[in-house]
Amino acid sequence: MIVTRFAPSPNGPLHLGHAFSAIAAHDLAERGNGRFLLRIEDIDGARSRPELAEEFRRDLAWLGLEWVEVPPQSTRIATYQAAAERLKQAGLLYPCICTRAEIAAAAVQDGAEGPLYPGTCKGRHIDLSGPVAWRIDMEAAMARARPLEWTDDVAGVQFARPDLFGDVVLLRKEAPASYHLAATLDDAADGITLVTRGADLFASSHVHRLLQALLDLPVPHWHHHALLLDEQGRKLAKRRGSPSLADRRLAGEDGAALAAALRAGKLPAGISLGEGVESHL
Ligand code: GLU
Repeated sequence: MIVTRFAPSPNGPLHLGHAFSAIAAHDLAERGNGRFLLRIEDIDGARSRPELAEEFRRDLAWLGLEWVEVPPQSTRIATYQAAAERLKQAGLLYPCICTRAEIAAAAVQDGAEGPLYPGTCKGRHIDLSGPVAWRIDMEAAMARARPLEWTDDVAGVQFARPDLFGDVVLLRKEAPASYHLAATLDDAADGITLVTRGADLFASSHVHRLLQALLDLPVPHWHHHALLLDEQGRKLAKRRGSPSLADRRLAGEDGAALAAALRAGKLPAGISLGEGVESHL
């Protein structure tokens, strides 16, 4: 059975790009006679606005979607900590106290998510009584896991390249876990068989595949869909003037008609569909 999910972060309102993503995940599950889940990714306590979760449910219902909601990330923190503990015991994590500015100044190369961490804190004695982040020792982790592959149903089989992220953070200083660790554990716990999300998160799947191997988690398939772009060819964002779904809903627009138009590839004026992702094999 196919199980997909839509996993929005309640940091800001949903816009058309989110509607497109939710519809894609919903329809893939429906076609496979499966289940479509909603998971609120509220791990970042400082940025999360709890009232938005209710707004998201109203938006999805307005689009005519039906879903099953699973517990939000804020209820799963013990799971993230247990997994991180296991990786620490295996000697695959190390603490880091570097600031963003220090990393930017010391980095010599860019990775998939900005400057590649230059390893400043690796092998250094760090006082654990203050706030620290925990990074994966990517070289050691990849040696442990051996070469890995994963399958995107659109782009085909991929060689896992978690090295593109370097020693990525798994436990953040200011939040209980990183997106990578939390989403990977949640997808496993929720029985997701087809991780459906935008092509902007394509590279993240390299890291997620590695974590699945290290933590003995089931390996789903992925479906990264092309993104909706604005007139300048940029990803839609509320801060760049894309109206939110709530704005459209409250203005009396017909959500089911909007969903039907998106399904038919009839995009509102000024919006286009970006490139899909190419196979890396
Ligand atoms: N919470 C993420 C976001 O809102 C989505 C993560 C995912 O689909 O894996 O961008």
